[in-house]
Amino acid sequence: MGFLSPDGSGMRGWSPSSGPASGGGLPKETRANVVGAIEGLLIDIDGVLTVSWEPIDGAPEAMATLRELGIPLRFATNTTTRTRAEVASLITSAGMPVEPGEILTAPVATAVHLRRHHPGARCFLLNSGDLSEDLEGIELAEHGPEDGPVDVVVIGGAGLNFTHEQLNRAFGHLLEGAEFVAMHRNLYWRTSRGMELDTGAYVRALEESSGRTPVVLGKPAVEFFAAGVADLGLSAEQVAMVGDDIENDVLAGQRAGLYGVLVRTGKFLPEVYDAATGEPDVVVDSFADVPTLLGG
Ligand SMILES: [Mg+2]
Repeated sequence: MGFLSPDGSGMRGWSPSSGPASGGGLPKETRANVVGAIEGLLIDIDGVLTVSWEPIDGAPEAMATLRELGIPLRFATNTTTRTRAEVASLITSAGMPVEPGEILTAPVATAVHLRRHHPGARCFLLNSGDLSEDLEGIELAEHGPEDGPVDVVVIGGAGLNFTHEQLNRAFGHLLEGAEFVAMHRNLYWRTSRGMELDTGAYVRALEESSGRTPVVLGKPAVEFFAAGVADLGLSAEQVAMVGDDIENDVLAGQRAGLYGVLVRTGKFLPEVYDAATGEPDVVVDSFADVPTLLGG
């Protein structure tokens, strides 16, 4: 157990100076540096804490240990279909009590971005589902012939309301100079009916047609991790991102200045790890090993 690489050969990539891993474990001096450095955690939910909202072995106990240590935690997901209160309720039901305020979703990151960079802006939101609870305080333009001028076009989760008429309104606002924000840019997703076109396909269409480049807020965008770090009240080099997706959680988190901790649960696959574009700072068997990174 513990700090093994996927091939079982030992720690990988603690730092450029740590050299190749050799035989069963974490160099003491490097571990001490990391233990001292990490003061907060940004934690991916699906595949790290839960699978289909059932707890992963050892995750509830690890979470209890982190709470005892007083480590500030935020929980990160790209979902645009559930409010943070709903996500918090599902994790709590899996035996890990969390507060809605500790959940960071792509819509919440979008709201943080809008409040910070476009305070008071009038926003044209295209999203399927009701996110008004998470977008509190953000002024949303009515959709209709009387839209009037808007300051920001916000593209959220795709659905049946992504009609030609609505996309054309978004296009028009972009041509008139509105800022362009997307909650994420996933091209498709798997549903019980098979693959469906997702937000990214429409974002790309608007990008091509308007010649405008969106600010994208969900993972793997740097802004997403920055919003989590800011919410923790820490700086990026004090925070570790824990995820099962090496590219979109771990390496993206590292690009944003955080430590990257990869768990070998959820969607983790050795062949994906081998083909990845970089090395995590830390690889652990599961979330159960995370408290040891923080002295637990
Ligand atoms: Mg995940």
